[in-house]
Amino acid sequence: LFKFRREVYLDNNATTPVRKEVRRKINATLKNCYGNPSSLYKNARNSAEILEDARKIVSLSLNVSSTEIIFTGSASEANNTVIKTIFELNNSKKNKIISSPIEHPSVISVLEYLKTRGAEIEYCRIDKFGTIDINALEKQIDNNTALVICMLANNETGIIQNIKAISKVTKTKGVYLLSDCVQALGKIPVDLKDLDVDYAVFSAHKIYGPKGIGLLYVRNNCPIQPLIHGGHQERGIRAGTENTHNIAGFAEACKFIPQMLAENSNLKKLTLSFAGKLKQINSDLIINTLFEKSLPNTLSVTFPGINNAVFMALLDYYGISVAAGSACNTQDDRPSHVLSALGISAEYSRNTLRFSLGHSTSEKDIEYVLSVIKNYFKDQSFPVTIISPRQLNENMLFDENNYILDVRYWHDRKLLKSLPNSYEANPSFIKKNFHILPNDKQIIVICQSGYDGPFVSLFLKSKGFKNVAFVFAGLIAWKLYNSDLYSKYAGLNIKNLITENKFAK
Ligand code: PLP
Repeated sequence: LFKFRREVYLDNNATTPVRKEVRRKINATLKNCYGNPSSLYKNARNSAEILEDARKIVSLSLNVSSTEIIFTGSASEANNTVIKTIFELNNSKKNKIISSPIEHPSVISVLEYLKTRGAEIEYCRIDKFGTIDINALEKQIDNNTALVICMLANNETGIIQNIKAISKVTKTKGVYLLSDCVQALGKIPVDLKDLDVDYAVFSAHKIYGPKGIGLLYVRNNCPIQPLIHGGHQERGIRAGTENTHNIAGFAEACKFIPQMLAENSNLKKLTLSFAGKLKQINSDLIINTLFEKSLPNTLSVTFPGINNAVFMALLDYYGISVAAGSACNTQDDRPSHVLSALGISAEYSRNTLRFSLGHSTSEKDIEYVLSVIKNYFKDQSFPVTIISPRQLNENMLFDENNYILDVRYWHDRKLLKSLPNSYEANPSFIKKNFHILPNDKQIIVICQSGYDGPFVSLFLKSKGFKNVAFVFAGLIAWKLYNSDLYSKYAGLNIKNLITENKFAK
């Protein structure tokens, strides 16, 4: 269909490829500085030096003092540390936390957890693009409020908040402000002194650095308590032998922030032209990103009537990686809380894709993506058969020409029983062992909530299996439409491909 197949990675808000200079730095640190930074001999002193150099570089990048920086295992950990500190310190006195409703799950789920522990959690008002109503927020802050949480830029739509104006309000009201700056770093200038926040969090893997290393900024004299207790590392705030090589890699990635910022006007141009050309392909699609106030690389698009799981899998089949706005592999397949908070219906949320461009995305990449999408809109044909949950009836279930492949992970299997006569194996096993599947039957792939099924079926198609299908919306939907069949047959005569093929890869 396409002359030149390309690999195009458009999920840079999920994570970024590690920059070669960063990889070099990490490798050199692993090789030369394996000593424990807490020990006293020479090799260890080298490690301690690496840490302090990194702290200096990172603090310069953010315009803060190096005494205000704590390295953590992730930004999620950093968010948890701040929120739980404030809750514990103020537990019986000030127990209200106000947050924007479009924060990352590492904020929202902590808040929902603390609610069960007696915290009063309120979400502030936002408009349909996600911009916080600062006047309303000001009124919402009362004497019982301890903390306000507001991200600098959102991961799903790219909306940027006026943190400087918000910090003026929190200062006047005498409450702390935590800002999640994970998505903003490298995409817009981040000067923490100028933003005047009390706490901020960052993550190396969003700026072409390694995964598993985060950063917590705590303004001097603001309270902070350890989430992980143990040794004296990170001034006793974050125990555990320091992740020296990843910290060095984080600092190396920070060195490229000025270069990234300089490249951002081109990135923005590319994003804008991508959006404009998408609109030309289909004028019905809805752009959820407000470009005047958004990150230069982020584009959230709703394709009415097109299921994002199926569309994402199709793009993957053509080598294109993008993200959906809704959670995958969950028991209840809830739509994205961010899109819901923007007033986008659950249906439209399941029609939404997020494209996040990166510094290596080229015009040719975007042209290729546009041509794949244009082709799909033209003939709407799909490379494998899509079976609706209603279609998969008793006859089909017990037809000997069908081979039902259940690609759920074990934790999902605990929640729902499998279809009768099905063969169980998770998607990564299938990827390595597809050759054990039959070629003379129709393979019907079923997953939990409709995300893995399209991917696995298209993968099998790409490996030459002729007769492949998947069940739309997965076992959750199938059970909903066939509750009688589920009670009668689910869990009967199941074969586990992994245990039956002990010598498989
Ligand atoms: N905050 C935001 C806005 C994010 O996008 C992410 C990553 O997806 C995180 C926090 C969590 O970062 P980490 O993967 O370091 O825990």
